Amino acid sequence: MNQEKKQNKESLNAPKGMRDIVDNEYYQYQGFFEKAQEIAIYYGFKPIETPILEKEEVFTSGIGEGTDIIDKEMYTLKTKGGDHLAMRPEGTAGIMRAYIENGMQALPQPVMLYSYGPYFRHDNPQKGRLRELRQFSLEILGTQKSIADAIVIKTLSTILSEAGIEKISLDINSIGDKDCRPAYVRELTNYYKKHLDNICGNCRDRLKTNPLRLLDCKNEKCAVVKESAPNSMSFLCSSCKSHFKEVLEYLEEMGIPYRINHNLVRGLSYYTKTVFEFLEIPEEEVPIVGENGEIVTEEKTENIERQPLSLAGGGRYDYLGKLLGSKKDVPSIGGSIGVDRIIMSKHHKPLSPRIIKKPKVCFIQLGFEAKLKSLAIVEILRKARIPMAQTLAKDNLSAQLATAERLEVPYTVIFGQKEALEGTVIVRDMATRSQDTVKIDELADYIKKIKDR
Ligand SMILES: [Zn+2]
Ligand SMILES: [Zn+2]
Repeated sequence: MNQEKKQNKESLNAPKGMRDIVDNEYYQYQGFFEKAQEIAIYYGFKPIETPILEKEEVFTSGIGEGTDIIDKEMYTLKTKGGDHLAMRPEGTAGIMRAYIENGMQALPQPVMLYSYGPYFRHDNPQKGRLRELRQFSLEILGTQKSIADAIVIKTLSTILSEAGIEKISLDINSIGDKDCRPAYVRELTNYYKKHLDNICGNCRDRLKTNPLRLLDCKNEKCAVVKESAPNSMSFLCSSCKSHFKEVLEYLEEMGIPYRINHNLVRGLSYYTKTVFEFLEIPEEEVPIVGENGEIVTEEKTENIERQPLSLAGGGRYDYLGKLLGSKKDVPSIGGSIGVDRIIMSKHHKPLSPRIIKKPKVCFIQLGFEAKLKSLAIVEILRKARIPMAQTLAKDNLSAQLATAERLEVPYTVIFGQKEALEGTVIVRDMATRSQDTVKIDELADYIKKIKDR
């Protein structure tokens, strides 16, 4: 392609922060999903898939204003019929909507669901932060028992470790419930009002819209104020306190190390009680990549605190059900894994998807007569579950043999004019160059016998 044409075509690239997943990487995503799904099923979760588009109110009433997701990052659209829809920025609100709409409250509680798919956030793309991101999520709906929190955390931790992510730390916190949180939020607000001059503009907004998120601020200026901010733990009512204590006891019993992080509130305002996050432990020798992909040297970054990447996280959302129209509360807990971040992590251990099998034979055809009948032979191999490569778009024998060699296929099945008339094929051992003529009817059995050699 010449330079001019190339430039014109660049405007047709994938949208910023969205990407194609092809070839080996596709298999890595698939392998991860199959393993995660298998583990979730063993822990008792069942599958669910909800639409990528939801009515905008599912997110605005569920997640709430004053969160980055709602205020800045949601892709919204108005349909030709006048509906306001949003590309789902996260999974929990849609699943709660589905739980209510499908009458899952009538099922034995709790209902345990897993799901996998893409989510969309109009965020600033950077390392590990995409506008189309893929998550694997777990939700346990309809119980306030602390063991549900433990199951979600344990299942996520097992999936992460099966994917090779061992250098990980679990941060956990409790942000209280409707009985104890208001007093805490009041105290936090009063405290920050005294420090208005020492906080960033974002924090001044958060003070009005969503004060808990003051603790989320990564600004250096605010870090000083945050250090002496009142701590949610000392405001917990007795029921929140004992719930949190039980969750920690489960973690200890299961041997999952954790760190209580008083500043962990998570970005979504529907969370109650337990919130948690699995963070990748940053390695000292890892170079830091700047926003434009440049390597930022150690000297320049020595004053910047390394932000560990969050690989998974979640929390309890006891009031979301009512916000989305349920008559009674649906106490629930969920969590999700950022699958793109796992695949991109250098600790990721790729898991082979079940469907991928290296081709055992390469099918080669010569002449129109053979090409005409060739799909019937492909079908015989498919039915016999013999993984196969083919060169149907090529005509010439040496070109087809060269392809077979490049694919490192142990056998070729050669089908020419003569064989087409006789109802046979030639099976050739690519290593020894020896070959046999085999009747088409007997081809599947013949290959099954030799392929294990
Ligand atoms: Zn701030
Ligand atoms: Zn409470």
